Amino acid sequence: MSTTAEPVAAANGAPAAASNGDSPKPVNGSTATKTILVLGASNAGIAATHYILRHIVPSLPDRAAYRVVLVDPSTKWFNRVGAPRAVLSETRLPLSKVMLDTSAGFTEYAKGGQFRLLEGRATALDTDARTVTIAGPDGAEEQLHYYALIIATGADSMTPLLGAQAAHPAASEAAIAAFRAALPAAKSIVVAGGGPAGVETAAELGFFLNGNVSRSKPAKARITLVTNGTKLLPVLREQLAKRAEGYLARVGVEVRYEAAVAATEPADAGRLAADGSIAPVTQPAKVRLANGETLEADLYVPAMGLTPNAAWLPERLRAEDGRVRVADDGSLRVPGAGERVFALGEVGAYGKGGIADLYAAVPVAMTNLKRDLLHAASGKKERTGKDMVYKDEVGETQAVPVGGMHGVGAMKGWRIPEMLLWLVKGRDFMVFMNPYALKGAMWKSETKWKDM
Ligand SMILES: Cc1cc2nc3c(=O)[nH]c(=O)nc-3n(C[C@H](O)[C@H](O)[C@H](O)COP(=O)(O)OP(=O)(O)OC[C@H]3O[C@@H](n4cnc5c(N)ncnc54)[C@H](O)[C@@H]3O)c2cc1C
Repeated sequence: MSTTAEPVAAANGAPAAASNGDSPKPVNGSTATKTILVLGASNAGIAATHYILRHIVPSLPDRAAYRVVLVDPSTKWFNRVGAPRAVLSETRLPLSKVMLDTSAGFTEYAKGGQFRLLEGRATALDTDARTVTIAGPDGAEEQLHYYALIIATGADSMTPLLGAQAAHPAASEAAIAAFRAALPAAKSIVVAGGGPAGVETAAELGFFLNGNVSRSKPAKARITLVTNGTKLLPVLREQLAKRAEGYLARVGVEVRYEAAVAATEPADAGRLAADGSIAPVTQPAKVRLANGETLEADLYVPAMGLTPNAAWLPERLRAEDGRVRVADDGSLRVPGAGERVFALGEVGAYGKGGIADLYAAVPVAMTNLKRDLLHAASGKKERTGKDMVYKDEVGETQAVPVGGMHGVGAMKGWRIPEMLLWLVKGRDFMVFMNPYALKGAMWKSETKWKDM
C-alpha cells in the first residue's frame, strides 16, 4: 500500500493536471478514474473509507473506475478518547494502544489497487476545478482531483496531549512523552475545561498522583480544574455533574466554577509553540482567571475548546462556529461545494459531536453518497427516491470515568450504572476497541435504504 504522493486522474475522466508535470497514472488500465477522496483518517474518515470500499464501490456499475484515497498528515491514528489516561504513564496506558499505525486497518484492500493511503494535509479546496491541494510531509504540494469528497478533518484540541495536531503530526507523541516525564515532579497542576476531556484528565491525574485522599493521606499534587461554567459536564444533568465533582474531590481535585481562563503566562502555555515546538506543554505557567485571580501551575493542561480543521476551506463553506456547513435537509452534503461533497464527524456543523453522533451520521452520509454515485452513473437527469436524513437523537449521552472505579454517564437520558460504565469505558478507556474500529469492524454490513 502506497503512502507516497502521486498524481490522481481527473474526476471527469480527463487526465489530471499533475502538479509535478507527470502524466497521470491510469488505474486498472483505465484513464477514466473516478477518485473518492476522504480527508482525515480518524473516527469519521476511517469509517467512511471502509464503508465506501465495502458497500459503495462494489455496487457501482463501472466499479473498476473508482479509486478511494484516504489522506491524513499522520501515518498514525491517535484516538484521543484514551488520551486522558495515556498522558499518565506507559504502565497506566501504553501509547501503542491509543496511537495505531493507520495502514494496519486497511490491509484487506492492498490487492486490487483501488485504495491508497496518502500522507499529507489538505490546504485548499477549489470547488470549480474539483481539486484539493495536499501538502506532503516534505511540504511539497500537489493537487488531487476528486469525483466525490468526504471532508472528515475533525478538530484540533488546544493541547497536543489530548488530540492530533494537523499541522504538526508528530507533536502529540513527543508531548505525551515529555508530559509523562514531568509528572512525578509536579506539585501543582491546573486543568482548564469543564467538559468530559477536562474532567477525565483531571480525575486521571488525581487518581495517578494522589490516589484516594483523606485527612491522614493528603494530596501529593494540588490539582485544580477550572471551568467558565456553573456546572461540570454540560451534556449531563446537574445531579450527575455534582456526583462527578464529589469523585474529583476524592482524588484531590478542586473544582473552580465561573473561572474562565483570561490569559496565561507564557501566552502559549500548555499548547504547541508557533514553530510546533512542544516546550510550552511542560513549562510552568501562570493562569490568569477572568475574576483577577492567578493560579501558579507546574503543569497546565488546556482541555477546553476544539478548533475545527476547516480553515483551509473557502469561507463560504464554513459556518459561524468555524465548522463546515451542511445542508438543512439532513443529507450531510456541503451546500455550495458542488456535487457529491459531504462533511462527516467533528468538522461538520451538525449534532453535538462525539462518537455516538458520528456513528449515527456515517450511514446517512454514505447512503446519500451512494445514491449520488448511482444517479451519476445512470446518466438520468431526474433524481428518484429520498435521501437518508441525519437526526440529532443522541440526547443526554456521555460516559465519563472519574477516578478509579467511579464515573458518571447517561445513554439517551438513561443513567448508566457505575459498574457498567467502568466495564465499558473506565477500565481501559475503550482502547480495546481501537484495532477493531481501525479495521472498520462496525461497518461490515450496509445500512439498508429503500430508495437506493
Ligand atoms: C480528550 C478527549 C476525549 C474524548 N472522549 C470521547 C469519548 O469518550 N466518547 C466520545 O464519543 N467522544 C469523545 N471525544 C470526542 C471524539 O474524540 C471525537 O468526536 C472524534 O474523535 C471525532 O472524530 P473525527 O474523525 O471527526 O475527527 P478527529 O478525531 O478530530 O480527527 C480528524 C483527523 O483529520 C486529520 N486532519 C486534520 N486536518 C486535516 C487536513 N487539513 N487534511 C487531512 N487530514 C486532516 C487529523 O490528523 C485527524 O486524524 C473526546 C475528545 C477528546 C478531545
